[in-house]
Amino acid sequence: MALAQQFIKEGGYVCSCLFQNGEFCFDITNDFESVLSFGGSKYVKSNPSGVYSEVLQLLKSGNKVLFIGLPCQVAAIKNYIGQRYEESLVLVDLICHGTPSPKLLEMFLNQYSKGLKIIENIKFRLKEKYQILVNEEGIVCRGVSDKYSIGFIKGLTFTNNCYSCNYASVERVSDITIGDSWGSEIVQEKNRGISLMLVQTQRGMELLKNSDVNLLEVDFAKAIENNAQLKHPMVKSIHRDYFFDNIEKKKLIHLFLGFILRSVLNKI
Ligand SMILES: Cc1cc2nc3c(=O)[nH]c(=O)nc-3n(C[C@H](O)[C@H](O)[C@H](O)COP(=O)(O)OP(=O)(O)OC[C@H]3O[C@@H](n4cnc5c(N)ncnc54)[C@H](O)[C@@H]3O)c2cc1C
Repeated sequence: MALAQQFIKEGGYVCSCLFQNGEFCFDITNDFESVLSFGGSKYVKSNPSGVYSEVLQLLKSGNKVLFIGLPCQVAAIKNYIGQRYEESLVLVDLICHGTPSPKLLEMFLNQYSKGLKIIENIKFRLKEKYQILVNEEGIVCRGVSDKYSIGFIKGLTFTNNCYSCNYASVERVSDITIGDSWGSEIVQEKNRGISLMLVQTQRGMELLKNSDVNLLEVDFAKAIENNAQLKHPMVKSIHRDYFFDNIEKKKLIHLFLGFILRSVLNKI
């Protein structure tokens, strides 16, 4: 959130995704503290409905806006805004594995007698461990990956278009790309994880340099080598179609999700 706070310090607005009223929606703020509510990876498809026109209105009124989102959303807003206001719009995208529908997350939570509309907050990651935490409690137990998270990591549960994503490449649509750094020699990477920032433009570089971020150089080739979604879209799990066919038939998701995941883990 250091980039977002710096942008606000410079007088701009930030538009990004947050969990609110049971939905993964977008909001816009120019408040230094409120912007922190955007923090955290949400491993689910977020919904930017209506926010692109709000961003356009802000730009038309002479404001600068920083938009942070998935690469497909960044490409969409760029297309929507057009060239007229592009100088005032700074774009940050995430390296993206793919996204499951929130409906799937809801089905998963329901198995644990929880639901998106009744929980206060949800996290998808505890340091390096991928797991769902609801109101700070692990859905299985703290420190243990659950089936939703394993399905996400293995590429079992994404919406179909993610497997042919045009943006899973080193050619980025943004000024800055953020992801996880893997394969570097930096000690902290193994200990607690660090973010990877790829900077595409001069204005991206200026925002990054002015922000309160501890910057260390990494080997670009190694960063790409160790991050598959900088090379190609996630490969579709051979079990994915079976998985979704059976969800639609309303079979017991928790039973066969366990079965499928065991076979996925054994085969990959
Ligand atoms: C669905 C998904 C898949 C990912 N796959 C990969 C991957 O394969 N490889 C990799 O290196 N990194 C991947 N990432 C990025 C990684 O998990 C971190 O989000 C990234 O490193 C930034 O973390 P941070 O703590 O520095 O950012 P934070 O300070 O937490 O900021 C993250 C920003 O991203 C926005 N954001 C989070 N989730 C969403 C969402 N679902 N839709 C729109 N905006 C969102 C937040 O609102 C916030 O503005 C993925 C992220 C997501 C959401």
